[in-house]
Amino acid sequence: MSYRPSVENVTKAGSNEKDGLYEFIVKMADGTECRVFYSRNPQWRLTNISRLQKTPCPVCRKDFICKCMDSFSDAIGRQLEEGQWFEKALAE
Ligand SMILES: [Zn+2]
Repeated sequence: MSYRPSVENVTKAGSNEKDGLYEFIVKMADGTECRVFYSRNPQWRLTNISRLQKTPCPVCRKDFICKCMDSFSDAIGRQLEEGQWFEKALAE
């Protein structure tokens, strides 16, 4: 558990405004990218996170699907909130 995710950029990949569902691509400083699903109502809540398989997993080094990022969803979610990334991504 020595991996420390550091959110560098967030882009909106999709949304269903009516249902308050959003999909973001989160890029970390180390190049790892994750697809993150959020439900907005009644408050922003991370519902799913998965690593894009562009680069090997920074935790287990696999280059196929793994569940490592699940352990970091809290830390990543916190950074998204603190960095006000939702507002930034949605303003684009
Ligand atoms: Zn992994």
